[in-house]
Amino acid sequence: MNSLTLEGIGMTSKRTRDRLIQRLIDQGVSSQEVLDVMGNTPRHLFLDEALSHRAYEDTALPIGYGQTLSQPYIVARMTEILLGAAGKLDRVLEVGTGSGYQTSILAQLIPEVLSVERIKPLQDKARERLRTLGLRNVQLKHADGGFGWPDAGLFNGIISTAAPRSVPQGLLDQLAPNGVLVIPVGADEQHLQLIVREGEDDKFRTQILEPVRFVPLLSGVTR
Ligand code: SAH
Repeated sequence: MNSLTLEGIGMTSKRTRDRLIQRLIDQGVSSQEVLDVMGNTPRHLFLDEALSHRAYEDTALPIGYGQTLSQPYIVARMTEILLGAAGKLDRVLEVGTGSGYQTSILAQLIPEVLSVERIKPLQDKARERLRTLGLRNVQLKHADGGFGWPDAGLFNGIISTAAPRSVPQGLLDQLAPNGVLVIPVGADEQHLQLIVREGEDDKFRTQILEPVRFVPLLSGVTR
C-alpha cells in the first residue's frame, strides 16, 4: 500500500486510526494481526467522499443500493473468529463483497480471497479500490453467493456479510472437512453463527454467538 493513498487528508491521521483500534481492543478484539491490519487499512477509501470523514467511527455506513459497510468492530470480530477457528487458512470465500472493505482485510491476512457480490456496480467499485490498494490476491464474481462459488472447490473458511434467514445449504456444501463458516443468521433478530464441518461427513457443529445486525442475504443478481 503506498503512503500517498494512506496519507490522504487529515482524517486518515495515525491518531484517528489508533483511536479506532483502541476502541476495538476495549470491545474485546484481541487478535494482534487483525488489529494491525485494521489499523493500516484506509477505511475512508471504501466510502463515497461525502461520508469519508466518518470512516473511522465505529459504525456501519451506507454504500448505496440500500447496502452498508459493516461496523469496524464486527469486521474485526468476524475476521478473528474465522482465523481462530479455522487453523491454517490458505483460501477463503466471502459472500457479499459490498464496498470491498472486509475483503481487503481478509486479503492482507489470507493468501487467496474469493468474494461474491450480487450488485454489479458495488462489485465494480470494490474491484477498483482493491486495485488501488495493490491487493492482487482477490478474485471477484458477480453472482448469488447463497450458492457459494460452485466451481471453486471446497474452502477451509467461508464468511458471509449478509444475513440469510437460515443457513444456505450451498455454503455448507462448500466447506472442506474441518472448514468453518462465519455467518449472521436471522430476520428481525440475528445472531452470528460459527459452523464447523466435522471431518469428512455431513456433520456440522453450530455455535450461536453474539447478536448482530446485517443487511439480508437476497437471492438473484442485479446489474
Ligand atoms: N463486506 C461488505 C459488507 C457489505 S453489506 C463491506 O465490507 O462493505 C452486504 C453485501 O452483501 C451487500 O453488498 C449485498 O449486496 C451483498 N449480498 C446480499 N445478498 C447476496 C447474495 N445472495 N450474494 C452475494 N452478495 C449478496
